[in-house]
Amino acid sequence: MKPVLYIVIPCYNEEEVLPITAPEFLAKINELVKLDKIDDKSRVMFVNDGSKDKTWEIIKDLAKQDEHYIGITQSRNRGHQNAVLAGLMEAKELCDITISIDCDGQDDINAMNEMVDAYADGCEIVYGVRNKRDTDTFFKRFTAEGFYKLLNGMGAEVVFNHADYRLVSSRVLNEFANYKEVNLFLRGMFPLVGFKSTSVYYARNERIAGESHYPLKKMLSLAFDGITSLSVKPIHMITGTGIFVSFISLVLLVYSIVQHFLGNTDPGWSSIMVAVCFIGGIQLISLGVIGEYVGKTYMETKQRPRYIISERTYDKSEEK
Ligand code: UDP
Ligand code: MG
Repeated sequence: MKPVLYIVIPCYNEEEVLPITAPEFLAKINELVKLDKIDDKSRVMFVNDGSKDKTWEIIKDLAKQDEHYIGITQSRNRGHQNAVLAGLMEAKELCDITISIDCDGQDDINAMNEMVDAYADGCEIVYGVRNKRDTDTFFKRFTAEGFYKLLNGMGAEVVFNHADYRLVSSRVLNEFANYKEVNLFLRGMFPLVGFKSTSVYYARNERIAGESHYPLKKMLSLAFDGITSLSVKPIHMITGTGIFVSFISLVLLVYSIVQHFLGNTDPGWSSIMVAVCFIGGIQLISLGVIGEYVGKTYMETKQRPRYIISERTYDKSEEK
């Protein structure tokens, strides 16, 4: 039997882009159906992430035009990761495989053929990996690559240059549903689920229209979330720094005592100041990092819902 594929697409303020990319996704579904790789019950599922523009109206219109288009909307903007999760959790009961992809045309949809083939060969997770970034600005490339290096250096296992373009089977999603955390970093979480996986490579294009929703500030916060939700290495590093600084202070102490007995009664104001400032700084950073983890624990203990679907373009009970 051929698998039913759901392409899950998060959309936030994408009225400029959607009319261009939506038909491309549909064409891809039709092509894969024709090639006998997937079932005709396959769908293009848009997840409107509480857009403030006409995105949801466009999605509803699309759903009227072709039965392969369906859409859900979140009750408000919850961010990219939560939007993808909402779509995947919704789709897992309706299909056999999902492919999550951004709606801005940056990820090459032709890589889907290879992804579906890899699934047919027994892989349950297929990571889409960018093999070059020449269409990104130097700054974006530099920060993005630094991001992966930082994450891996900090012990969060992520596939280099893989964003959220990925095939995941509903079997994996059913297991994934047991990962209850609210601080989501999907690309770091899927490797934890296990199962047979592989990567396919593609060239990344420029955004078709509109603007990136990932300015540096959001990227940094995603990197921080990635590190602090997947690893406790920063806490170990603090301990390490603490030990190192204490050692240095000990040396300084011995040095000042020796200086004192040598009759060098220079008040040593500067060295004391340096030490005080340095240790003060280290303490503040340490408190900050520990505070991050405490804050995370606080958010997790609330167990708030990670997404709320307020509307659908279809009747869920009728879909399967
Ligand atoms: N997105 C979303 N909610 C948000 C921000 C972004 O659903 O709060 C979607 C957006 O519509 C796009 C994808 O996430 O489909 C990736 O966003 P973007 O292209 O702006 O990021 P970049 O590719 O620049 O990292
Ligand atoms: Mg993009």
